[in-house]
Amino acid sequence: MADCIFCRIVKKEIPSRIIYEDKKFMAFLDINPANKGHTLVITKGHYELFSDIPTELLGDFFTISQKITKAVVKATSAEGYNLFINNKKAAGQIVPHVHFHILPRFNEDGIKFNWPNRKYEENEAEIYLKKIKDAIK
Ligand code: AMP
Ligand code: ZN
Repeated sequence: MADCIFCRIVKKEIPSRIIYEDKKFMAFLDINPANKGHTLVITKGHYELFSDIPTELLGDFFTISQKITKAVVKATSAEGYNLFINNKKAAGQIVPHVHFHILPRFNEDGIKFNWPNRKYEENEAEIYLKKIKDAIK
């Protein structure tokens, strides 16, 4: 993807602060950190979504992401961390190249993931349960 900003980072066409790199993955500092040390882990191949990552890459992607997470936590003396992937615009994805956010967290850092606590109508949870279970391939 010639115009993808993270593909361009992979190709070193634009600079980034690279924390880790191997043949298939890269981790670098987020340019606009929510907290200092906020890190992104990407596949070098261009996949838009978590669900697009080939199964054979997933294990290593998680292993690397865990390794980098431990390093970020240690280096920042974080008191906690969030690990998340935004998938598609509806979920807040801006860069359409899959990336794990590793966000070091601190007590009283003021960051809030402010989702509503919705309620299921009667029997609705069972309907969702069945639909999702049936959709497992
Ligand atoms: P998302 O909303 O999950 O797509 O997040 C994209 C993230 O990429 C944001 O946190 C941006 O700050 C970050 N970002 C965008 N461009 C760059 C860049 N050139 N180098 C590092 N991080 C970037
Ligand atoms: Zn890309």
